Amino acid sequence: MKLPTNLIFDTNSSSYLCLKRDLNQYSKWILLTDDNTTRLCSDIFLRKLNLKPIAKFSILPGEAYKNLGQVEKLYNLLLEKKLDRHAAIVNLGGGIVSDIGGYAAATFKRGIDYINIPTTLLAMVDASFGGKTGVNLNGVKNQIGCFHHPVQTLFDESFLESLPQKEMVSGYGEIIKHALIASSVLWKEINEYSSISKITDWTSIIKTSVEIKTTLVNKDPLEKSERKLLNYGHTIGHAIETLYNQSGKQISHGHAIAIGMITETYISHKLLNFPEKIMNDIKKNIKSIYGNIPLNKEDYKPILELLKHDKKNTNGNVNFVLLRNLEKFQLDCKVSESLLIESLDYYQS
Ligand code: NAD
Repeated sequence: MKLPTNLIFDTNSSSYLCLKRDLNQYSKWILLTDDNTTRLCSDIFLRKLNLKPIAKFSILPGEAYKNLGQVEKLYNLLLEKKLDRHAAIVNLGGGIVSDIGGYAAATFKRGIDYINIPTTLLAMVDASFGGKTGVNLNGVKNQIGCFHHPVQTLFDESFLESLPQKEMVSGYGEIIKHALIASSVLWKEINEYSSISKITDWTSIIKTSVEIKTTLVNKDPLEKSERKLLNYGHTIGHAIETLYNQSGKQISHGHAIAIGMITETYISHKLLNFPEKIMNDIKKNIKSIYGNIPLNKEDYKPILELLKHDKKNTNGNVNFVLLRNLEKFQLDCKVSESLLIESLDYYQS
């Protein structure tokens, strides 16, 4: 199966002309943003597009608002504006906007089209294509959702100009992940950077990253096998992200995944002989970019508890995708509680 999403890189003005032509095929379309992308991106976008939506809807930014309440408000607007099954939603924002808008599109009138215009690095290299949509429930990440692919994703790197550095760092975690799971060449390149401010050619890094994810999604759209590799670092990472969110502390998705990649590489080393030198390089490189996010010993128990609720579990076992080496993976690995604790200790050391 080929990804049912048209991936368009904004290299010339024709990309917006094509988008305008495509949007004109719909009965109506609405623009979904969050308060930051409303302020910083929507005028630029609408000017480049030279077309107006039937309505605009802006959500409050932040993981706490990625919930069914926002989706319901959006449904109400879609009803009020009489959107039919030939209408579309355009998501202009980061992963939260595309997850919420994608989920609303998947479920409104049993499914309408949506288009993603990612404005964060994370959304460009990950969240804006691949078909996963959804929201959090009671603060637990992505508990409600479904697969529904955007019909188009338009990558316009100029939106990154207003993105705060901490959000660039957050998105960069997914690029590191793509390198570890699928490209030793990309890993070699990015391992040279101890700070992302040293990166000059984002275009090629973003394109390589998009290609890696696209290849895996094409092979396994419903995440039955190889696509699980994209969850590398996310099993422990999501538990940490949820723990922070539930306790009202702030941690970005990328920072949580960064901890996840260090700990899951340690587990890979212990269970599958992942090379020790590369494991230590990964920790050094990630910590130089993300710093040392403190984890208390008291956090371990709730992290282990949250891992038991991971969506990828089967028969009560926490399932990990692990690496034997760069680019070499093993699916469905069972990990003991004691090794999980050891991996958190390795992160701290
Ligand atoms: P986000 O959407 O919260 O955006 C981060 C912050 O940047 C927000 O405050 C936002 O308002 C702001 N922002 C966005 N674009 C901006 C711009 N151009 N200039 C200035 N500020 C801007 O977070 P994210 O990191 O993009 O995405 C994280 C979310 O994506 C998580 O909820 C995660 O679960 C989800 N995700 C989904 C998938 C998927 O496949 N569906 C994959 C990875 C992550």
